Amino acid sequence: MALASAQSTSGIVPEVDQFIRSRTRRMLIDGKWVESASGKTFATHNPATEDILAEVPAGEKEDVDRAVRAARRAFENGPWRRMTASERGRALWKLADLIEKHGEEFAQLETLDNGKPLAVARVADVPLVVDHFRYYAGWATKVEGETIPVSIPGQRFLNYTLREPVGVVGQIIPWNFPLLMAAWKLGAALACGNTVVLKPAEQTPLSALRLGELLEEAGIPAGVVNIVTGYGETAGAAIAAHPDLDKVAFTGSTEVGKEVMRAATGNLKRVSLELGGKSPNIIFADADLDEAAVGAASAIYFNHGQCCCAGSRLFIEQKAYDKVMPKLIDFSQKVKLGPGMDPATEMGPLVSSEQYQRVTGYLAAGKQEGARVAAGGGRPKDLSKGYFVQPTVFADVRPDMKVIREEIFGPVVCAIPFKDPSEVAAAGNDTTYGLAAAVWTRDIGKAHRMAETLRAGTVWINCYNVFDAASPFGGYKQSGFGREMGKAALDLYTQLKSVWVNLGPHGDNGQ
Ligand code: NAP
Ligand code: MG
Repeated sequence: MALASAQSTSGIVPEVDQFIRSRTRRMLIDGKWVESASGKTFATHNPATEDILAEVPAGEKEDVDRAVRAARRAFENGPWRRMTASERGRALWKLADLIEKHGEEFAQLETLDNGKPLAVARVADVPLVVDHFRYYAGWATKVEGETIPVSIPGQRFLNYTLREPVGVVGQIIPWNFPLLMAAWKLGAALACGNTVVLKPAEQTPLSALRLGELLEEAGIPAGVVNIVTGYGETAGAAIAAHPDLDKVAFTGSTEVGKEVMRAATGNLKRVSLELGGKSPNIIFADADLDEAAVGAASAIYFNHGQCCCAGSRLFIEQKAYDKVMPKLIDFSQKVKLGPGMDPATEMGPLVSSEQYQRVTGYLAAGKQEGARVAAGGGRPKDLSKGYFVQPTVFADVRPDMKVIREEIFGPVVCAIPFKDPSEVAAAGNDTTYGLAAAVWTRDIGKAHRMAETLRAGTVWINCYNVFDAASPFGGYKQSGFGREMGKAALDLYTQLKSVWVNLGPHGDNGQ
């Protein structure tokens, strides 16, 4: 197997090798590691070498049905239902501890399956996941209803609300932060007492399966979390349309998000969508331009541009354009590309051959429409294998170009000069998306005015790509709806019940 041959040179820990061998062809349904009903499998690849890493089950409708039945049983009758909120919280905390304990394995699995540099998986993905589960462990005991002072003439009532779990939840996640997206989905859902059928992306199923191995030890009963690997068109579509799921939570492209929403109408399951973006990153001339230029580079190049909130439209105030551009170009040309397992690597490959085709297609479209390549623009010459694309800066772009209008999801930024705040606010908002935006300036009033004007779910001021489990994240416009993380995510996974108690007529004693 390719992994074994790479092992001697790449520092892969034995647990990862063993995991990949042992879990191949199995997914988690009702606490058991099972093959797909059809017996079909598909391969997941290492995008740095293009080699096959493992074969995982190609789950389909029948498998989703089985997983939903297990999750339904676990929700209605299982020990999960009888566990106290405190016990649920402790299980989530334990899960966080276990992920932390096996952190190196998770980091390596992410790097092998997704392509990201190991150093990034170690300092970003894994700690964020651990923190996320700890944060929601704390919420389990704080999901509260209210008492409401109602005003019914002549009669007294006690009215209160119960905040109850939504029920059995389908969750479909993408490949850009495989384990972190699983954590964003599972943390709030489990804290609130739901049960789950989770489908990882076909390109990156391994870290979710490894997570599945830790559930029992954490004290999360069988059937509470079921992990079905499979293709979007089959397993994903079956989740979106399933008549016995109470909710579907989706992260991915806007196009598929719309399909999920249409499919969900069958039983009117609740829907939350975290979709694409084309985020404006705005540098004013009064900013710290060194910091802003580095910030602009990391806004687009972090995770190789495969972030829904990537700062892909870089607006630079005219007066500062000739100062910022050389810094950005210099940064872009110095990024060290290579396999994620190589400690010298700063940027790995794109996740798959499809994404490589897609991103290089945008590079060709940009050039054809007349954009000027200021840095990068193609495949690095020294890497013959793997889905590598150079960090690329397009200049001289027009608002109607494909590279300005569409989400590229790769390390490609378009630089656009502007004259004043109102012009850049209008241009920044001139997109169907609204996931994130950023402003770089030393003028605090301008910064806050821009934050108000920009139509995006997150606005960063003098920073970019800062995340915390406590702060809500989600989209305006066609970037979706619903907020993950923070207290806001509890709304996605609970529903309110209003309870009325007749306390009888008002008495003589004034009560
Ligand atoms: P995608 O097709 O939207 O995939 C996201 C998830 O949805 C995956 O688990 C996928 O399964 C599943 N899926 C696909 N078709 C489905 C269907 N008909 N019903 C239910 N689930 C379905 O995204 P992609 O193909 O991986 O990437 C394409 C583009 O999506 C990217 O270039 C980028 O623009 C955008 N994207 C956005 C995000 C984000 O965080 N907002 C993340 C990833 C991609 P399979 O992977 O098994 O097909
Ligand atoms: Mg892979």
